[in-house]
Amino acid sequence: MISVAIDGPSGAGKSSMARRLAAELGYTYVDTGAMYRAVGLYALRAGKDPADNAAVEALLPEVHLDIRLQDGVQHVLLNGEDVSDAIRAEQVGMAASAVGANPAVRAFLLDTQRSLAKSRDVLMDGRDIGTVVLPDATVKIFLTASPEARAQRRYAELAAKGQPADYDTVLADIRRRDDQDIHRAAAPLRRAEDAVLVDTSELDIEQSFAALKQVILDRTRQNG
Ligand code: C5P
Repeated sequence: MISVAIDGPSGAGKSSMARRLAAELGYTYVDTGAMYRAVGLYALRAGKDPADNAAVEALLPEVHLDIRLQDGVQHVLLNGEDVSDAIRAEQVGMAASAVGANPAVRAFLLDTQRSLAKSRDVLMDGRDIGTVVLPDATVKIFLTASPEARAQRRYAELAAKGQPADYDTVLADIRRRDDQDIHRAAAPLRRAEDAVLVDTSELDIEQSFAALKQVILDRTRQNG
């Protein structure tokens, strides 16, 4: 089986790039952030503080996640309910970041993530795919961009949605998320030694896509 691991900070364009690359190259796209978001959503709905590790761990036996892959699109079912849209809320993203620092949650999701890669060719994105989840991935990419470039893109995205935001606030949020993801004890965000670094600070969407596709094609030819 071929597996492509794409890790990197939030706002680097991982999921939009990964979705497109998977479709074009014929891999199944697995979005691991969605699984952390589903656990975060469950904690919020249960009225628990997502940062309270013991309280969240106690909820895990009640959490049944089912990852359905339909026409290459991932659907997340939380106790039978399709929460694919509900998990995109900003508040759920913050909850996901909090539960992602919880070792019990990471252990809980690890089997699901590994088993998805056992029976099909996958392109999986997250923070620790190349370092922890799939250490033997065929191709590892660390996708990043400067905090300023990521903030500029997020700012433009919000403006296009009719939700104008303050650039400095967006930049501060990105720096805070980076800080949390890099400095947590459990599976911190870091580049695997054998990951190819792709920095898109100076690249537009099409250039980023072309650069990533080239890395994947070169590496699968070498290693596959
Ligand atoms: O990528 P996305 O924004 O959906 O991820 C939500 C949160 O889940 C991230 O802020 C990160 O802290 C956490 N996460 C993680 N490990 C992964 C994927 C996501 O800790 N493999």
